Amino acid sequence: MDYPKSKELYERASKVIPGGVNSPVRAFNSVGGTPLFITRAQGSYLWDEEGNRYIDLISSWGPMLLGHAEPDVIKAVQQTAENSTSFGAPTRLEVEMAELITSSVPGVDKIRMVNSGTEATMSAIRVARGYTGKNKIIKFKGNYHGHGDSFLIEAGSGALTMGEPSSPGVTEGTAKDTLNAEYNNLDSVKKLVEANKDDMAAIILEPIAGNMGCIPPNEGFLEGLRALCDEHNIVLIFDEVMTGFRVDFQGAQKVYGVTADMVTYGKIIGAGLPVGAYGGKEEIMDYVAPTGPVYQAGTLSGNPLAMAAGFTLLKKLKDHPEVYDELEKKSQVLATGITKILEEYDIPHAMNRVGSMIGVFYCEGPVETFDDANRTDKELFGKIFHGMLKRGVHLPPSPFEAFFLANSLTTDDLSFILTAFEETISEIKS
Ligand code: PLP
Repeated sequence: MDYPKSKELYERASKVIPGGVNSPVRAFNSVGGTPLFITRAQGSYLWDEEGNRYIDLISSWGPMLLGHAEPDVIKAVQQTAENSTSFGAPTRLEVEMAELITSSVPGVDKIRMVNSGTEATMSAIRVARGYTGKNKIIKFKGNYHGHGDSFLIEAGSGALTMGEPSSPGVTEGTAKDTLNAEYNNLDSVKKLVEANKDDMAAIILEPIAGNMGCIPPNEGFLEGLRALCDEHNIVLIFDEVMTGFRVDFQGAQKVYGVTADMVTYGKIIGAGLPVGAYGGKEEIMDYVAPTGPVYQAGTLSGNPLAMAAGFTLLKKLKDHPEVYDELEKKSQVLATGITKILEEYDIPHAMNRVGSMIGVFYCEGPVETFDDANRTDKELFGKIFHGMLKRGVHLPPSPFEAFFLANSLTTDDLSFILTAFEETISEIKS
């Protein structure tokens, strides 16, 4: 499969857009080569500028749970657009959206719409700080919460030291209030809490990590965090931007039976339009302006097109819970098939999966932490990525991104993916 038009566009893009892309992972830096420029998508298929078709395992990084251009979502957006694209005033749809979520998800009494997952997490920690009157937060190595300054922080040199900026432009002042713990290591969290007991406002995590491949929480990890937060009056924030409405309609909270104090959403909640949201217990959310003193606002927040798309998708998912069973079966077929091929070719691997999030690591398992994930054979992943791409399967272009399956995948699509995988591995091994 060749794509000269994408290459030409990438050259043009690189002159006028940093790195030629509007979000770094799209530039293919971790796998090499040129990104495809996409013209349209339908169900589980993407078409590039040449008209080449690819099976899509990115699902727009999560939102497209039922596949691209879902007819009801498209119709809702078209109909809503006829009445204008934004009013800057409240709408019925915003109320219906908030009612749908608060009546379905445990622990979310009130919810505020924003425009991205980044905005949701930034706002959530501000509210947690305002509510507790404390400053520091704990996050986990390898978890991603968007590009808010407070999250672009690495662990300092000693386990109990302050964080250090991981990006120029983030100040030391901001960094000192973010501490990094080890995912799936409760002791690492306890030590940080112990050392900063009186100033710990929040613990934020991906309850199922999806930004270092897919790493589920070990038994007792989420429960342990819950107990620690209760003991020390710390706000527990589950960042369900990726997992919300994907692993279950009620998210990871339902899957693991642990309720957070606040939850952040993005991706599926907007069905592909720019939406995020943060919600939680009433007494915490009442700290948000205009009810409370913590400021947060947005010109386009609750945008009618975005609400129409998101509400239509969420309502469909709520009314059709069988979607989750179907996705589970399809994901199982794919994960089992990939595992079998890797076993046949004697390639060390670890397969992590929660529902339709799949993380394949090319190293010995188990993979339970960021350091484990980092052992994956990145060079091999690059070869697999390009082998699959030339056979018409678009994997996420990074060894640290989970595959996101959509329910539009057919049995034939799954067979096609597995055949492409076997051919790719056979080619690499020959
Ligand atoms: N939180 C998680 C868990 C994410 O996966 C992401 C994005 O991938 C974000 C937050 C940031 O969301 P956005 O890219 O919409 O700002």
